Amino acid sequence: MSTIYTAPICELKEFNNLFIELTAKNCNQRCKHCYIDFPLNKNVKDFISIDTIKEALNDTLNENLECIYLTGAEPMTHPDFNNILRLCLKRCNVCIFTNGSFINEKKARFLKRVEGESNFEIIFKLSIDHYNEVKSDDIRGRGTYRQVLHAIKSLVKYDFNPILCITDYYNEGSETLISEFKKEVCNKIGFAAKDNNFKINKWHNKNNHSENTETFSWKTLDCEYGRILTEKGIYTCPFLANDHRGRCGSSFKDFSHKNNLETDYCQTCIKNKEALFGINYSLFKE
Ligand code: SF4
Repeated sequence: MSTIYTAPICELKEFNNLFIELTAKNCNQRCKHCYIDFPLNKNVKDFISIDTIKEALNDTLNENLECIYLTGAEPMTHPDFNNILRLCLKRCNVCIFTNGSFINEKKARFLKRVEGESNFEIIFKLSIDHYNEVKSDDIRGRGTYRQVLHAIKSLVKYDFNPILCITDYYNEGSETLISEFKKEVCNKIGFAAKDNNFKINKWHNKNNHSENTETFSWKTLDCEYGRILTEKGIYTCPFLANDHRGRCGSSFKDFSHKNNLETDYCQTCIKNKEALFGINYSLFKE
């Protein structure tokens, strides 16, 4: 007898996290594990307009936003990045998802000044995938390990407290990764990182279509606490940005609060247990 599979439905519990995709396809790196399908041409001009962001901020005035996340591909490639950052900081905390290649001491000093002009804080989620330089460069590209280390050092110098985002590409487990990162990376550059400075996520292998998970248990999903704005409209989460399966509407004036957990991405989220993209503030503030 065959069993009929029905995907569970998920509902937005509270709209705390607004993700904004500043560009869908612009990134100066080509990481092996990235879930984005990049075009061959590196010079795509697909940046979101500042007017679209202003409209979204206006339409979400009644929501209890805790954090705005600037995402991409690489959000710091947006030509109007600084103005977008200032605009979002008028509303709440802003988290920048970045590979760190645009951050040096001068930029960190400037970002500290921008933060100082606002009542909120800037949080950085920096992607670095291995504590070993050769392995990390193998995943993210030659020279990227040193770039991100320089970014971390620069941010720490200006009193930022970055979160290191690690995709567990070699399936080593959180405990090993955190202890090796502290020893091999943080100690060497003078970053007194605590456990909550690390966010370890499962790797979503887009070439490996996973089986449906039989047990649907998780702590938090990104689609329960947020939505992503892109130039094309509103979607459930960064994984499903611009994907018709995650479409929630064209603006925040009227958008869907429900979605089916029917994609391979959802399987990765469910297996990850914790939200992959949103910050768990209760841990971060410890
Ligand atoms: S990919 Fe994850 S966050 Fe996105 S809709 Fe599926 S379960 Fe929710």
